[in-house]
Amino acid sequence: MTATILEPGQIEAPAGEIPFLRLPARESFFTERAERFRQLAPGHKMGDFLVFMTRMAETQQAALKHFAQVHLPAASQLALSREHGMPPLAARSWKRDPAWRSALEEITAAVVADAPKPAQDAIARIAGMSAEDVEKLADAILAGQVLAVDLGAAPFVAAALQTYWAHMSTTLGKTAFGRTDMPSLCPVCASAPVASIVRIGGVEQGLRYLHCSLCAAEWHMVRSKCSNCESTKGIAYYGIEGDKGAVKAEACQECGSYLKILYMDKDPQLEPTADDLASLALDMLMDESGMQRSGPNLFLIPA
Ligand SMILES: [Zn+2]
Ligand SMILES: [Zn+2]
Repeated sequence: MTATILEPGQIEAPAGEIPFLRLPARESFFTERAERFRQLAPGHKMGDFLVFMTRMAETQQAALKHFAQVHLPAASQLALSREHGMPPLAARSWKRDPAWRSALEEITAAVVADAPKPAQDAIARIAGMSAEDVEKLADAILAGQVLAVDLGAAPFVAAALQTYWAHMSTTLGKTAFGRTDMPSLCPVCASAPVASIVRIGGVEQGLRYLHCSLCAAEWHMVRSKCSNCESTKGIAYYGIEGDKGAVKAEACQECGSYLKILYMDKDPQLEPTADDLASLALDMLMDESGMQRSGPNLFLIPA
């Protein structure tokens, strides 16, 4: 009997048949995330925080539902971006519509009553900032300049930015976006992924998608490949002993980084942002072994 060695890519359908991009479901995405936070909270060491994040995700959904009309790239700009393999809503260069700050006001007003005291103080600091300072804070978060940000205020700003970017991407629709020359970054907004997820069901069965830390778009990448440097050598998987194996760390010897990978066949309710936060213990293990996370969770700055 001869064994066939499968190369990465061969274990999946030919590229043309694979849905390359998945956008979040506008009507339900943040509600589903809230549900997941709610599920993960009971008995968890960070239970109170996860309960608060449930509330945060619910208010993101409410803000998304009636988000104001905002400036969007014209069809010609989108075509140009596709032609040149560039993400059209690049987080670090896109000129933000001031409407995102209204979403920030709405989100903070909705969660403040349920927030722990330090978070209430952070919300008060945001309320006292000038528009210019809020924009500077957003710039620093989107640029990953964690030392420059008010860490208590950052999660609220991040929540509003996530909502704004999901609003833009879902308004434009999937056909607005094309493949880019940077497979490790989001083709919508050029942000790094929070985690990757191996999906179940239909044509996506067994396919791995990277999940954007900002806009929640998902883009396909073959498995057994480093999502940071694309190396296929020296990839190893680490998990917490005794759990059901739904969340692992995919680590790469070539670039010394890791990103979590979630397996829906082990748990169909997984949600990348929520499950990433709830598996902080795995980050601590990876940190002890000297591995660096390749993508952020915007609710956990610094990681
Ligand atoms: Zn994105
Ligand atoms: Zn790598």
